[in-house]
Amino acid sequence: MQKKELLYEGKAKKVYASEDSDVVIVSYKDDATAFDGQKKGTIQGKGAINNRMTNRLMQKLAAAGIPTHYLEELSDRETAVRKVTIVPLEVIVRNIAAGHFSSRYGVEEGLVFDEPVVEFSYKNDDLHDPLVNDDHAVALKLATREEIGAIRAYALRINELLKEIMLAAGVTLVDFKLEFGKTGDDQLVLADEISPDTCRFWDSRTGEKLDKDRFRRDLGGVEDAYQEMQRRILE
Ligand code: C5P
Repeated sequence: MQKKELLYEGKAKKVYASEDSDVVIVSYKDDATAFDGQKKGTIQGKGAINNRMTNRLMQKLAAAGIPTHYLEELSDRETAVRKVTIVPLEVIVRNIAAGHFSSRYGVEEGLVFDEPVVEFSYKNDDLHDPLVNDDHAVALKLATREEIGAIRAYALRINELLKEIMLAAGVTLVDFKLEFGKTGDDQLVLADEISPDTCRFWDSRTGEKLDKDRFRRDLGGVEDAYQEMQRRILE
């Protein structure tokens, strides 16, 4: 499959057209950003790790009945996916308090929730991705009520599946962000990526952070953490 024109360049990925109008090619970069793009850097080898980890996890989710955009891994950094229109919602699932949940609500990192928390942010850089509830999302016509219900159900099921996969790899799934898209024939599918860029992973035994928080918080050992996650999930 040949890459054609560049359709879109995001902070961590580029999207190219292909010869098939229903298929686009995603190319993962080593570029890393944090804090709404204010912090910029490079994480050596990240693109290849995130590409392969996303694909492996999406294949496992697909086998468990979750529809995804994944089609075919083309190379270390490139994957063919179904062309979708992204639903402009960041869907965050949290099992343990961390990050913005801790700062927003004043609870210490590490508080374990009795039930997972699902939250939505409106994907809009100019507005800095504000938190929205279901009614806001419907009012803003970001998704229909039915789509939001389906997205929530998929997100909770994905959480159960990912928690199980991570547990087997000695990793606690703290929280993660998903994005969904709609195909030309109006099917809702999981899109974007599932990687240490978009999830918080803590070593189950030591609590060591194995994700992008090492970059965000200048903890050092950033590349090592990505490689460790690669080893646990892909090898
Ligand atoms: O920053 P916050 O605590 O809200 O992040 C929750 C989860 O969502 C984290 O795993 C983070 O990596 C992910 N996230 C993301 N992209 C964003 C915002 C959050 O991948 N734009």
